[in-house]
Amino acid sequence: MASLPSVAVHGTLKLDSDLRKQPTLSLPNQKKSRTVTHLDGISESMSTDFREALSAIKEDASTESSYYVDLLRDCIDKNSASEAEVVHAQIIKTGFHEDLFVSTFLVNVYVKCGTMESARKVFDNLPRRNVVAWTTLMTGYVHGFQPELAILVFREMLEAGAYPTNYTLGIVLNACSSLQLIHMGEQLHGYMIKYHIDFDTSIGNSLCSLYSKSGQLGSAVKVFDKIREKNVISWTAVISACGENGDAARGLEFFIEMLSEDIEPNQFTLTSVLSLCCVMLSFGIGSQVHSLSIKLGFELNLRVKNSIMYLYLKTGRIEEAKRLFGGMKVNSLVTWNAMISGHAQMMELEGDGLSAYQSGNEALNIFSKLNRSGMKPDMFTFSSVLTVCGSLVALEQGEQIHAQTIKSGFLSDVVVGTALINMYNKCGSIEKASKAFVEMSTRTLISWTSMITSLAQHGISQQALHLFEDMRLAGVRPNQITFVGVLSACSHAGMVEEALIYFEMMQKEYRIKPVMDHYGCLIDMFVRLGRLDEAFDLIKKMDFEPSEFIWSNLVAGCRSHGNLELGFYAAEQLLNLKPKDAETYVLLLNMYLSERRWKDVSRVRKMMKEEKIGKLKDWSWISIKDKVYSFKPDDKSHLQSADFHKFLENLIEQAKSLGYETGEDLEVIDEDEAKASSSTSYHSEKLAIAFGLLNTPSSAPIRVNKNFIMCRDCHSFVKSISLLTAREITIRDSKRLHKIVNGKCSCGDFGSLLWYPLPRGNQHKILRVSNSLVV
Ligand SMILES: [Zn+2]
Ligand SMILES: [Zn+2]
Repeated sequence: MASLPSVAVHGTLKLDSDLRKQPTLSLPNQKKSRTVTHLDGISESMSTDFREALSAIKEDASTESSYYVDLLRDCIDKNSASEAEVVHAQIIKTGFHEDLFVSTFLVNVYVKCGTMESARKVFDNLPRRNVVAWTTLMTGYVHGFQPELAILVFREMLEAGAYPTNYTLGIVLNACSSLQLIHMGEQLHGYMIKYHIDFDTSIGNSLCSLYSKSGQLGSAVKVFDKIREKNVISWTAVISACGENGDAARGLEFFIEMLSEDIEPNQFTLTSVLSLCCVMLSFGIGSQVHSLSIKLGFELNLRVKNSIMYLYLKTGRIEEAKRLFGGMKVNSLVTWNAMISGHAQMMELEGDGLSAYQSGNEALNIFSKLNRSGMKPDMFTFSSVLTVCGSLVALEQGEQIHAQTIKSGFLSDVVVGTALINMYNKCGSIEKASKAFVEMSTRTLISWTSMITSLAQHGISQQALHLFEDMRLAGVRPNQITFVGVLSACSHAGMVEEALIYFEMMQKEYRIKPVMDHYGCLIDMFVRLGRLDEAFDLIKKMDFEPSEFIWSNLVAGCRSHGNLELGFYAAEQLLNLKPKDAETYVLLLNMYLSERRWKDVSRVRKMMKEEKIGKLKDWSWISIKDKVYSFKPDDKSHLQSADFHKFLENLIEQAKSLGYETGEDLEVIDEDEAKASSSTSYHSEKLAIAFGLLNTPSSAPIRVNKNFIMCRDCHSFVKSISLLTAREITIRDSKRLHKIVNGKCSCGDFGSLLWYPLPRGNQHKILRVSNSLVV
């Protein structure tokens, strides 16, 4: 606002009060108009407004002019700029362009048809400009996503000495909120209070959206309360404000209040309320809103339907969502995107490997259907499916989608670029991730951070740190997550000195307070190096309670470095946290078992029952060409099952010759019982790898995904296999990525976090315990 000429602002207000004395000139208030609101608060109420406004000016218009207006109105109905041009040419021929009424209406026609350049040209040649013309042009720019031009027009208007109405001011406020010009909006608000127009409906609605956009929910509610005659737009604005600012429950309260005031919701209100239900995972209220929307005649409304479908997906009602999706005769890209991202989110939420895999696969199926439907995917579609490919380790599909982004011109989009980096990283191809990063035309903080983290995860620490320095040189300010990447790179390479320097830099230079993840990296580093006391000191220094991850890391470290006293202490702390993660219990059970502390073993098992810790279902999957194959232990369901089981047995024999031991060195607990169970059990990743080796060309890398932490036995087996077959094998388990080349793993063999397998032939108590854990 500071940049607005003060004279003009003064003029605005003086004139505005004058305006109220000449009501015929002012645009009709939204209340009277047939209104539609977008969720972003921009209202489209001009059509009816115009008819009324024009009728005010129309009195002196001749019959011919009304003839042209009727023709132009048809153009609006047909949304046809080309027809408008024909009428326009005729108007010029007959000299009617001198007619203020006709030419002002022409501005409106071009605005409505979205041809702003033509609108501006006609506007510039207007014999006289009234507030209707100025406001029309501004509205056009706001709706056409050019709010900066709307503000410029507003300035021109003030400089020309024209008088904005309340409606005009509402439009300027909308432009301010789109441009995040909060300061300007607040100054306008100040003037509105001073001249007592802040209770006006359209102004109040716009202010409410402005404050919501700037994260000031309190102020948004305050201006809403002040509106004297609240219409459906006002209520929708305040309900969306609650949603946008993380107070979904309050939003629902407003909705109920709105209904009790007998205000009928429109499609935008309904979609807002349904999205609140999604946030609150409240299917009950959501289905009531659904019934209401049918009652109100929105049964076929695409926006409402999309929101309901999204609610189904969010609350895990996949079948209902699919039914709704299948039954939709018309659907938009939004519908497809909702289906795809809904499945992608389900995938993230599902702990269990198999259903996560199924959701991911379904997302990819929907994507190929979308491609076949002839509709063009957008950046949201691409970033969703790329995330899915990453989670499924489906490199081939990911590459195809990469090619599609190039063809459709979305590669330059920074969101898509970042999704590509993450996809390649998760698929274990750091080279391709780097290439995607290098090819990005613009890089954001998120893309830099993704790349640094990817390098760190692949154990390429030096490069990660170099990239971090490049990022600083490029003037991009790192955030909390960037530093997690940097510290984990240091931790990986055991670079204690550097880690401590960056840890200090983060706090002093960037004023970022360390959070659990930062400490986690440092502790991980000391644990890896066997400097357990330093790890423990750091834990004591933290000013918050250590997480499950930190204690289990220490337990694992103590086990592998033989510090039992600290290990048992850490285990106690871990148990106090009542962990929810089945893997943590496996870790503890294994430690107590190997030390034969039976009392502790039964204590842990009791606790697992109390905490309802389910069984760990061991699943692995591998993607070959366009298909993803999944495996569970002892899986005999595959067609070639006999082949690759035999192949696997051969591999194990060969691996043994390279020094691989099948876990027989583990503590023997009961020899007699051991003989009773002779069936060989393979963890799923062994099967997936054997399958992959048999079904891919001899030099192709193997990429396997596993739903929980890999065991030490499989880890060392895969290392031997990578030597034997000269293949690059990548396994992503639930905790980290293992890229194994020539017998070496990128995880730096931090094997102490891998739990022990069932020692073959010596089960007894271990077997009993394990049976309750692994299916
Ligand atoms: Zn294993
Ligand atoms: Zn590893």
